[in-house]
Amino acid sequence: KGKESNRGHALLFSKEHVAAIEQNQQLEQLLSKADLDAELTVFFQPIVNIQSGRTVSFEALARWNSPVLGNVSPAVFIPVAERIGLISELTCTLLRKALATAITWPEEVGLSFNLSTHDISSSDDVATIVGIILSSGMDPRRLDLEITETAMMYDFAQAKAAIEIFKILGCGMALDDFGTGYSSLSQLHALPLTKIKIDRSFVSGLHKNPASYKIVKSLLALSSDMDLDCVIEGVETSEELEVLKKLGGILVQGYYYSAPVAGSEIGRFLPRPELGRKAG
Ligand code: C2E
Ligand code: MG
Ligand code: MG
Ligand code: MG
Repeated sequence: KGKESNRGHALLFSKEHVAAIEQNQQLEQLLSKADLDAELTVFFQPIVNIQSGRTVSFEALARWNSPVLGNVSPAVFIPVAERIGLISELTCTLLRKALATAITWPEEVGLSFNLSTHDISSSDDVATIVGIILSSGMDPRRLDLEITETAMMYDFAQAKAAIEIFKILGCGMALDDFGTGYSSLSQLHALPLTKIKIDRSFVSGLHKNPASYKIVKSLLALSSDMDLDCVIEGVETSEELEVLKKLGGILVQGYYYSAPVAGSEIGRFLPRPELGRKAG
């Protein structure tokens, strides 16, 4: 009936649209009033070298525990924070927390931290982030900063300038979700990156999907030709892992090894301290 009476007129908002808008407004209100220090936590997911079997670093992944909404995914609240101008504060809070945890790890274990579009498109924000890294006491060479292709392309000149600053500091720079954005290979070549992360959409089921297999194979070859490290994201099964081993993949992240866990739980992934030798 509704359809009939609207014939010939533009239907501006469906019920679903209205619900989505209301939900967004609620998210914006709750996030803008949130006690970020209390409600935001950082989880960590191991990145494993599949040749040595060792955990070489952890990616910090934000979690928002809202007293009203419960756990909200970063895929939802990071874009909201960007929209309402809260992302700088959020990034700073998360980075401080992630570094405070990582500083307690053995020196050979690194930390990978996600930056958002806004973080790298403002030189003030870049300076603030540099300040947080320096005052954390963490060696910047243990830190990788991850930026998505999409964020990189938003303002290419600014992104490049930001990456150059972080590189001078000693940080590694990773291109996240590689293959899902719109960067050209020439732009990629112009950025002083150290690492690419192959998006999990190419990894899922690659043992039975020839197209995914070929894409991952090509991206591994590309990263090797460009002297970039390569992390393969979203590995969930032993079938996927076996194929990746045969393709020469080295760094892997995914549920196969572990979902992201709280900072207090990562001891089991860390190299054991040398046990004092017992006689005999
Ligand atoms: P991302 O940086 O690509 O992080 C990887 C995402 O894939 C994480 O989702 C992780 O939990 C998930 N994942 C890892 N392994 C598997 C797997 O085997 N299977 C499946 N299905 N998923 C897997 P999460 O934690 O929900 O984060 C989503 C996105 O939110 C991140 O994608 C990142 O872009 C953004 N994000 C997370 N934390 C932060 C942060 O502190 N700052 C910023 N700016 N963005 C963040
Ligand atoms: Mg990431
Ligand atoms: Mg990713
Ligand atoms: Mg992703």
